[in-house]
Amino acid sequence: MEKIYDIIIIGGGPAGLAAGLYGSRAKLETLIIERDKTGGQIVTTDEVANYPGSIPNATGPSLIARMVEQCEEFGTTRIKDSVEKIEVEGQYKIVKCEKETYKTKTVIIATGAVPRKLGAPGEKELTGKGVSYCATCDADFFEDFEVFAVGGGDTAVEEAMYLTKFARKVTLVHRRDELRAAKSIQEKAFKNEKLEIMYDTVVEEIKGDGILESIVFKNRKTEEVFEIKAPEEDGTMGLFCFIGYLPNTEVFKGLIDMNDSGYIISDSNMKTNVEGIFAAGDCTEKLLRQVITASADGAIASVSAEKYIEANF
Ligand code: NAP
Repeated sequence: MEKIYDIIIIGGGPAGLAAGLYGSRAKLETLIIERDKTGGQIVTTDEVANYPGSIPNATGPSLIARMVEQCEEFGTTRIKDSVEKIEVEGQYKIVKCEKETYKTKTVIIATGAVPRKLGAPGEKELTGKGVSYCATCDADFFEDFEVFAVGGGDTAVEEAMYLTKFARKVTLVHRRDELRAAKSIQEKAFKNEKLEIMYDTVVEEIKGDGILESIVFKNRKTEEVFEIKAPEEDGTMGLFCFIGYLPNTEVFKGLIDMNDSGYIISDSNMKTNVEGIFAAGDCTEKLLRQVITASADGAIASVSAEKYIEANF
């Protein structure tokens, strides 16, 4: 007989794994479909200090490993495949993947988002080794160091100000001659004595042997190319990139309601516009994208799915 899942969760980051744990614990047939490696963005973080109750020296990978164990203890099935489409078939949902097609009563979309990359040489190699996309996660590693923050939007300016609480000096690097951020945010930034702004400038190359050692910049007006090296006494510095995020929601366009930036619109019970389809974590429209908020969303989405099944099947 054709297998019908209770919940199919798309994405195996903290939101998906929390949804898996709650679903399986409620004795629902729960399947997590992961595209790449388990864990999502958090596995690129060396230290997780802001997840309440996490053990000292917890890393992104160790936290995810424990979440996976918990899912397995309760019997969540996990498979690797890439979702291409969700179709609604009567009261069921059909999840079409690259390798297989699955049938389910409910779906939880937990596909996350990825920070937009600069695309500069050296960026990939030095990510997590001086290059970061998350001040909340990594600012304290740069206590008393010099830090550069790229971007001119609300996130970049707010995060650059946050970084001044840790770093000796923060230079905000923006590609144009005026910031995009809201005027109220800009006013605060201009008053911050530890924050300098370098306008009309882009990152050309990021250099370092296992750790960030220097950044090559280009002034877009004068065409001048110049390199800033980490102070010798520090040996390294920080480069934070805040040039927007890209939610992994492309394949759901047309079925699921999203905002202009592609984030899924869900209510406080993680319901989307489609009955029986829920969304959780960084792929949704929200204020704070962290492990704690993703996990909470996943738990809520699972309980919502459970209630939907009770009411409709
Ligand atoms: P954003 O508003 O899209 O800004 C992205 C910034 O990165 C822009 O300044 C852009 O430059 C720059 N940029 C983009 N691609 C670049 C590249 N390849 N190289 C260099 N710079 C690049 O993104 P966001 O700041 O993350 O904000 C996202 C949304 O969240 C916005 O709607 C924002 O208002 C909202 N938000 C609100 C708050 C708040 O209200 N407190 C806080 C955070 C975020 P250009 O300016 O030249 O395009």
